[in-house]
Amino acid sequence: MVQYRHGMNVTQIKPDRQTCAICPRECSLAEGETGNCRARRNVGGRVAPLAYGRPCAVAIDPMEKKPLYHFRPGKSILSIGTAGCNLHCLNCQNSDISQVSPGQVGYEALSPCDLVSLMERSRTNAVAYTYNEPLVAFEYVLDCAKAVRDAGGENVLVSAGYVNEGPLAELLPYLDAANIDLKTMSEEGYLSNCGVHRDPVLKTLKAIAVSDAVLEVTDLVIPGFNDSERDIREWCAFVAGELGSGVPVHFSRFFPRYRMIDRPPTPLSTLSRCGEIAKEAGLEYVYIGNVDEDADTFCPSCGTMLIKRRGFDVLSNAIENNRCPGCGREIYGRF
Ligand code: SF4
Repeated sequence: MVQYRHGMNVTQIKPDRQTCAICPRECSLAEGETGNCRARRNVGGRVAPLAYGRPCAVAIDPMEKKPLYHFRPGKSILSIGTAGCNLHCLNCQNSDISQVSPGQVGYEALSPCDLVSLMERSRTNAVAYTYNEPLVAFEYVLDCAKAVRDAGGENVLVSAGYVNEGPLAELLPYLDAANIDLKTMSEEGYLSNCGVHRDPVLKTLKAIAVSDAVLEVTDLVIPGFNDSERDIREWCAFVAGELGSGVPVHFSRFFPRYRMIDRPPTPLSTLSRCGEIAKEAGLEYVYIGNVDEDADTFCPSCGTMLIKRRGFDVLSNAIENNRCPGCGREIYGRF
C-alpha cells in the first residue's frame, strides 16, 4: 500500500495533526480523527483510507451503465465502490454507502492482486472505480489501477471530480476513461447542494480532457436546482469551449432520493430541451439518461447511425478503426 504524499507526502502543520492532501477540503486531523468524507483517518501520524482493500460494493456492470458510451461499447466492466464521500449532495443516489463510514457497511476483502484475479476470472479486462466517490480511497484506487494496467486491463473512474491536482496527476497515467459529474455551473449551487466549491471540479475536468483518457460528462438535471435555460447553456458552453465539442455529455433524469424528496422527477420535456441546447452549443454526442428511451450514437458529420442501443445493450456497432464507415470522420472515444 502506498501512502499518498502531496509533495512531501502528508503535510505536517502541528506535531499532532496531519492535513489530508487528497481533496480541497484538506482536513486537518488529530491522531485518531476521521476526515469529512468519513473514509480517511489519521492513524499513527499518517492519513490513510479506512477502506483500503475493503470494497463494500463489487459487481459486473455494462459499460453503458457508468455511463460511458464512447469507451468499449457493449463490454462489461468489473465495478467496485467503497464507503464514504467528500460531497454530501442532498439528492445522493447512493447515500447508503456514500454517506456512511467504511466501518458501518459490510465489505469484501479484495487486495489489488485479488482484484486483478477477479477481473481475469470475470473476463471483463477492465475495472471501474465507482458507486461512491472512489478518490476518498485514493491509495487503494491507485494501487489497483497500477495492478490492472500491469495485467493488461483498463481503468475507468466515475467521480464527482473534487480532488486536488497532485493526486489526480498521479492517477491520470493509469486511467483509460472517466465519467465526471458536472452538477451545475453555479458556485452557489455546488455549495448549497453538495457542500463543496465548483472550481476544483472544473480543474479536474480540464486536466482529464487533455490527458489520454476518454472523458464523458454527466449532468443530473434536477427541477428547480440546475434546470434553468441559463444554467444549461452555461454548462454546455463550458464543456464545448473548455473540454471540447467532441466530449460526450449525458443529461440524466433525477428521481427524488435521500434528502431531496420535495420535487418530482425531471420532466422528459426538460431533458429534451437540454439536448437541444447542447446541440445548439455545438456538442456532438448528446445523450439522455435514466429514461426509457434508447440512446443511439450518430456521426456528427454525415448522420450515419454508428451504435444502436437498447437500454444498456449494444445491438450493433458500425465504427471501424475509430471512424465513421459513411464519411470516414474520426469518432471520439475508444471502440
Ligand atoms: S479526502 Fe476526506 S479526509 Fe481527505 S481532505 Fe477530502 S474530505 Fe478530508
